[in-house]
Amino acid sequence: MKHAIIVAGGSGKRMQSATPKQFLNLNGMPILMHTIKVFWQYDSTINIVLVLPTEHITTWNSLVDKHQFNIKHKVVAGGKERFHSVLNGLNTLAEGIVGIHDGVRPLVNNATLTACYQGAEKHGSAVPVTEVVESLRQKTADGSKAVDRSEYYNVQTPQCFNVQKLKACFDVGFQATFTDDASVWEHAGNKVHLVMGNVENIKITTPSDLLFAEAIL
Ligand code: C5P
Repeated sequence: MKHAIIVAGGSGKRMQSATPKQFLNLNGMPILMHTIKVFWQYDSTINIVLVLPTEHITTWNSLVDKHQFNIKHKVVAGGKERFHSVLNGLNTLAEGIVGIHDGVRPLVNNATLTACYQGAEKHGSAVPVTEVVESLRQKTADGSKAVDRSEYYNVQTPQCFNVQKLKACFDVGFQATFTDDASVWEHAGNKVHLVMGNVENIKITTPSDLLFAEAIL
């Protein structure tokens, strides 16, 4: 059984908008609906769990009505940190492979989804990455220093895992170093298997990201 937990607890501050960024309009439909649609197009039998802050659930339900959005999904309330939001989603699952995906990444493509779900089936985990194309500098006490970008990857989502094994990793409780699910998985002593992501699979964060997404779609 395949599952997708789509986390959408963002506030929209960086977008200079009163609307949470996952609800912003992208080519006639909220970003979040595009994201859900990509997973459904990949596999129409996938179990989709959408995690939203409690205060946004009513807004979401009215958007679903307004857009006559009929892709089946379950809505779960979010938590304080991303970790808690994911955990609330995980608590609704028993087994299979789960992909945990940022709600504001509607440009994930079919090749990335296939690589992630198949990779996790085979290796227990699969996390999509891309090469770093900018030069990188590390902050130091007296300024900064150049580092070798070929030693690093950009990390995307969906991060896919065996459900039972991932649930065991989340038993440890929240730690500030847990910025994504791979870090929780790794902290429990598991190896993170990497697959190729797609470069357009950006996290929509700023108004210019929205223009980029419109152009790609
Ligand atoms: O803050 P950041 O951009 O790293 O968040 C990554 C993802 O986690 C976003 O999709 C955001 O909506 C989600 N999130 C959440 N619950 C929180 C905080 C963030 O679902 N409490």
